[in-house]
Amino acid sequence: MAHSWIPTNSALAHRHIQVEPYCKQCATGAYENVFHALWGCRVNREVCNGAGFYGKIQRQGREDVLAFLMRISSSFTKDESEFFLVLSWNLWYIRNSVNHGGHKPQASAILEWGSKFLQEFRERVKVGEGIAGLSSVVRDHEVNLVMKEEEGCRDVDGLIAQIKWLLQNERVAGISFAFREANQVAHILANDALINKASAMWVGVVPLCASQAIRRDLPYPL
Ligand SMILES: [Zn+2]
Repeated sequence: MAHSWIPTNSALAHRHIQVEPYCKQCATGAYENVFHALWGCRVNREVCNGAGFYGKIQRQGREDVLAFLMRISSSFTKDESEFFLVLSWNLWYIRNSVNHGGHKPQASAILEWGSKFLQEFRERVKVGEGIAGLSSVVRDHEVNLVMKEEEGCRDVDGLIAQIKWLLQNERVAGISFAFREANQVAHILANDALINKASAMWVGVVPLCASQAIRRDLPYPL
């Protein structure tokens, strides 16, 4: 978000992907950049107003998203900043899901979800109870998804066993760390597991929540 890397229509069009750079969710003809998709679009207005951000989250001049976030974070309390970021994250998730035929929750439900999520996060993670989302995406050298059903792993122990098994393969050179920005599919799946508190495995099908990231991850993205 801070670097405008999230795939808004204007970002995709800028990368020469065949999409119109405009917002498809309001009829204003606005460019769908990060500012519009998360905070400017009128479909999100009720949520932003309901959260008390009205008048506080206007872009100034041509500042970029990072400058905008730095500026507003200095005028927000820590709690407000956290709520703002959680809501922004959820609004992006909802926007994608609406683009793929999902339904948009009521503003009150979105606000309630954000408050509840933060409350649980503060209560559990910060006091050390520890909840987290974990995901794995297994690919071969041609980036095909390779996990086979009979080899599927349903828990952390299974995942570690799978990694050890893969490391024994002579074609596997080793393990290297990748930032989440370079591993969006795993990042999205881990978030999905965290939000829904559910464990799931997809073999031979593409999980809906990560379908866009998977397409963008191909050697020749669509
Ligand atoms: Zn719009």
